[in-house]
Amino acid sequence: MHNDLREILLSEAELRDGVRRLGERISADYAGRCITLVGVLKGSVFFLTDLAREIKTDVRMDFTMVSSYSGERSTGVVRMLLDLKESIEGSDVIIVEDIVDSGLTMEYLLQNLKTRRPRSLEVCTLLDKPSRRRSQVAIKYSGFSIPDKFVVGYGLDFNGLYRNLPYIGVLKQEVIEGNKSCR
Ligand code: 5GP
Repeated sequence: MHNDLREILLSEAELRDGVRRLGERISADYAGRCITLVGVLKGSVFFLTDLAREIKTDVRMDFTMVSSYSGERSTGVVRMLLDLKESIEGSDVIIVEDIVDSGLTMEYLLQNLKTRRPRSLEVCTLLDKPSRRRSQVAIKYSGFSIPDKFVVGYGLDFNGLYRNLPYIGVLKQEVIEGNKSCR
């Protein structure tokens, strides 16, 4: 375990099983169709690439980036920093997110993408923190429900760090307070 972590919440094996289960459900639900996976940068990248390989139907990928956390807590204000490259009109779209916390990011994304008239629009999140929800967004596919702890790893960061950990863990409070960064 990385020295900056207090505990591991989800091991590599647990993540692999969870992603496989999501891939199986999505493959069954969309059999014979082509799915547009919309990854929310940067946190969803590891999850998205693993999930895509567990989906047995045709898949294309696009990316968006929205403003999110600076450090540990959300500002509550969401802006699109990077738009999709392709049109999603008439497409079966699944937004792929690392974690739904307050739900404000997902509410904004759903509203935004809905105006582009996709054939269908669903949400797939690796992690769900239901205790902190402020916007009741409908999540069709959820990997794991987790308690209200700030987690890092498998794409999730703190000041840009820890995304490359192959598991998901909880940071030590002193690391958060020390505001560790790459510089
Ligand atoms: P929401 O808008 O649902 O409050 O937050 C969504 C975004 O906040 C996520 O995409 C993620 O970037 C960030 N976030 C929320 N909770 C955590 C967490 O526990 N750890 C990390 N690293 N990011 C989080």
